[in-house]
Amino acid sequence: MNRTSVTAFTKSRAWMDRAGTVIPTGATSAARLGVRPTPLVMAESDGARMRDIDGNSYLDFALANGPLLLGHRPQPVIEAVTAQMQAGMLYGAQHRLEAKLAEALTDVIPSAQAVCLSTTGSEAVHAALRFARAATGRRLVLRFEGHYHGWLSDIAYSGPGSAPAAPEADRTLPPVALSAGLGAAPDLLVARWNDTAGLERVLADHGSQIAALIMEPVPLAGVLEPAPGYLEQVRDLTRRHGIVLIFDEVVTGFRLGLSGAQGRYGVFPDLTVLGKALGAGIPISAVAGDHDILAMATGPAPHMGTFNGHPVAAAAACAALECYREPGFDTRLDELAGRLAQGLTELGRQHGLPVVTHQAGALVQTLFVPRGTELSDYAALVSATDRDRAAAFAEELLRRGVYLPPRNTWMLSAAHTDDDITTALECADAALGQLEENLV
Ligand code: PMP
Repeated sequence: MNRTSVTAFTKSRAWMDRAGTVIPTGATSAARLGVRPTPLVMAESDGARMRDIDGNSYLDFALANGPLLLGHRPQPVIEAVTAQMQAGMLYGAQHRLEAKLAEALTDVIPSAQAVCLSTTGSEAVHAALRFARAATGRRLVLRFEGHYHGWLSDIAYSGPGSAPAAPEADRTLPPVALSAGLGAAPDLLVARWNDTAGLERVLADHGSQIAALIMEPVPLAGVLEPAPGYLEQVRDLTRRHGIVLIFDEVVTGFRLGLSGAQGRYGVFPDLTVLGKALGAGIPISAVAGDHDILAMATGPAPHMGTFNGHPVAAAAACAALECYREPGFDTRLDELAGRLAQGLTELGRQHGLPVVTHQAGALVQTLFVPRGTELSDYAALVSATDRDRAAAFAEELLRRGVYLPPRNTWMLSAAHTDDDITTALECADAALGQLEENLV
């Protein structure tokens, strides 16, 4: 890889200007605009690397925000997709790969008895909420502050980036809309993550009207693992109140091990939402879970979508799953991530900077936060972390050829090697050195 510093962004800047005249802001997802010093325009990618249109090469730890668990352009997926393209691109009828994919998912996801396929994570979340409402005959949905479940209106409140509720709020928290004009969300309740007593109070007040409780079992914002015993308590409480428990494993799926967060923590939801790494770069998502709840899809809560079970995407997902099932796949990723996490913590110490590292499977989060700060929920994360410094760290890394999202979540892929971790740590050393210098 090209380890010389990355300095020229002239072509990216010019292209963003050109695109900006016909695409508002020049980016097709608001999530891509935070990259500093400028959002980049990419030309090609392979394995663990991407190259922009100025010719700069990057070791990629953003993985397109999650899908690329096998790295860029994984050969088995390309072969499966190409073969399916030759056989047919879309039928608008059943085909064998969708059932094969559903069979494979029921094999690897412990709580999955059946599967419904969609295209994006947001859509599959929406489907899961529909099924839960139809199965319970209830309307309310309970979610946690700071978790993300896609951009669709039912659920797009109080996610990452929104202002946290005041600490004294001790029952439901006021929903904060992601988008102007969404209104007050009368069907949505918001609670604090990792707070069993708070959840008990919400359920005492509203339990009999709640259709579903949805969570990221490890929220990506901060990679805030559940406190010991917390998931078990949530499972128990939702069961007692007849609430459908939904794990949104769009990020954690396959990344915290083959069977996701539920396999890692041994707590099993009624429904699981999968996306991102399921297609290894091709859009496909799924709701997997209880057979009776998913049966709503064929009756009271019809599940529709022109591209549902897309043959090319199903081929990609079947091929990806075969890779994820290879013995040692997840332990190798855990080891790489562990080495990266340890190295980053150590570098923070060496530079006298307050770097705290969280790791869950192939996910590593670096945070600039005073050591010893209690970080169990979103409000604590927002008040304690220095996000400007995190963005500056990502920028310094980008200038050294390491691509990391401004919020500093490092994602590992099967394409990363031990040498890549060494390179990333060398670049992090130099980047932290620059941040240290900026302080004086
Ligand atoms: N759930 C989670 C946990 C996610 O991280 C995302 C995407 N970042 C979604 C749902 C929505 O998925 P998509 O962007 O594919 O609609």
